[in-house]
Amino acid sequence: MDIPRIFNITESAHRIHNPFTPEKLATLGAALRLPPGTRVLDLGSGSGEMLCTWARDHGITGTGVDMSRLFTEHAKLRAEELGVADRVEFIHGDAAGYVADEKVGVAACVGATWIGGGVAGTIELLAKSLLPGGITLIGEPYWLRRPPTEDVAKACRAGSISDFLLLPELLSSFGDLDHDVVEMVLANQDGWDRYEAAKWLTMRRWLDANPEDEFAKDVRTQLASEPLRHASYTREYLGWGVFALMAR
Ligand code: SAH
Repeated sequence: MDIPRIFNITESAHRIHNPFTPEKLATLGAALRLPPGTRVLDLGSGSGEMLCTWARDHGITGTGVDMSRLFTEHAKLRAEELGVADRVEFIHGDAAGYVADEKVGVAACVGATWIGGGVAGTIELLAKSLLPGGITLIGEPYWLRRPPTEDVAKACRAGSISDFLLLPELLSSFGDLDHDVVEMVLANQDGWDRYEAAKWLTMRRWLDANPEDEFAKDVRTQLASEPLRHASYTREYLGWGVFALMAR
């Protein structure tokens, strides 16, 4: 079981697989005012940077579940590196339907809400692991401005314009799901550049090391087109943020 190989290639050097910088991740961790010992569940935990740094900085304990074997391996190494391997565990597997054995104070899905079939389904899934009064974290894109055409939405890697909302609409959708928005930290264009542009050097180095790989043609095509696509579309039209929610 694994995610499509292209992500394991292009994001192999990422610690954070979304447009958050380390500073934004730290800002979010501090904003949540987590008492030490808080249990955190992270579905789609990637390379584990959120759980590992929050364990180091705030004394949380955590479980991450991720379908990428490579990212999960990186997460375990990162936990060792930061000296928190006794406080965080990383499970390689499908997080769809995953419910924690012991309920948690924070249940997160940051940039992977397809795991629950969308934002609403993911909030519902996370709620099954959450203590009363706990915090749900949802990391999700939104439109900075609505794309003028479906082609522009697709160039932003959305399936269609209707996949995402404008920020005020996204915030009010959480209310419609009977949740208060109690905090939010938003990414910015520099963060998008860190997420997207970091893939370009990774792709170039991978191509130099793997010229005969059956994927080389695809990666070469992506490397040639991605900077322009990013600058024209994602960078201009897409916002991204993590929203902290509490059930009403
Ligand atoms: N939350 C992490 C990763 C976000 S990228 C971070 O912010 O850095 C999306 C992640 O979801 C990837 O790590 C990918 O491997 C993982 N993923 C995709 N489908 C999944 C599934 N069904 N179950 C668990 N993880 C999944």
